[in-house]
Amino acid sequence: AGGNRMQVFSDEMRVSVHERIAAEQRLREALAGDREQTLPVWFQPIVSGETGQVVGAETLVRMRTPEGKILGPGAFVPAAEETGLIVPLGEHVLTMALRHLVAWRDELGYVSVNVSPRQLAEPDFVPLLAGLLARMPGLNPARLVLEITETALLGSSADVQQRLEMIKSLGVRIALDDFGTGYSSLTWLQSVPADVVKLDRSFVAGLSADPRKSSIISAVLWLAQSLGMSVVAEGVEEEADWHALVAAGCPAIQGYLFGKPVPPAEFAAAHLHRSRM
Ligand code: C2E
Ligand code: CA
Ligand code: CA
Repeated sequence: AGGNRMQVFSDEMRVSVHERIAAEQRLREALAGDREQTLPVWFQPIVSGETGQVVGAETLVRMRTPEGKILGPGAFVPAAEETGLIVPLGEHVLTMALRHLVAWRDELGYVSVNVSPRQLAEPDFVPLLAGLLARMPGLNPARLVLEITETALLGSSADVQQRLEMIKSLGVRIALDDFGTGYSSLTWLQSVPADVVKLDRSFVAGLSADPRKSSIISAVLWLAQSLGMSVVAEGVEEEADWHALVAAGCPAIQGYLFGKPVPPAEFAAAHLHRSRM
């Protein structure tokens, strides 16, 4: 019996190791190519709760395979984090996000960018960020928001804490991503100098039909606002949930109801045309 179990286990291991090596290889090739083509950066609108007007956008990376297939981040971001390739990948995403922020200067309030724990742990991260901002004179750094998850704080918390303070001193804003999914959300709220809280889809979806969910949302909104933080509710797909969020006073909303992540040209055509002459 022991032998059989061993066999099953090692077969599963082999598959996952094989997949991981394939993912790493794909990623190396994509990073070596024309990154704008191989690692396109897409944008999803974030809207004002009350008016539905676009106030910002989240930057979400994709991979285009040599066959032209588009892969979501789930297919390569974990491998990027394990191998450290998240550092060049993250720099590429940040560069693209800032470039679009400059191009959409008068039409889009802010752009947010996901920063993985591994990136934040990199001693060169803050100098890199400062360097990129210095190359964009006239850009208000508060128009850049870095989204971090709770796992970024595990481990070297003193270093990370200090790094977050340095990021803030550059004028860049910080958002707590996936809020409510971790183990220590309240500790997190207490210790991170965040400007924005992003409520995870898992407790936003179906909110209008679930009194417990809406009580939790109301309480988190109150808490965030008392701490001077703004709130974005993620993953809003249903009109009823949108209305419930507005009734609870949620200032900003993101979700398929208002737009899926799309390539930059499509984003501009669909969401930024209002202010075009
Ligand atoms: P996330 O940061 O929580 O991003 C939100 C995810 O939810 C995105 O998936 C988005 O497409 C999806 N989403 C948005 N609205 C809805 C909705 O109404 N319904 C549903 N079902 N889903 C919605 P995506 O683009 O597949 O990204 C997945 C994750 O990959 C992100 O989760 C983020 O953790 C990571 N990621 C994406 N881009 C980057 C990046 O440039 N750097 C890093 N480090 N991570 C990234
Ligand atoms: Ca995010
Ligand atoms: Ca999220």
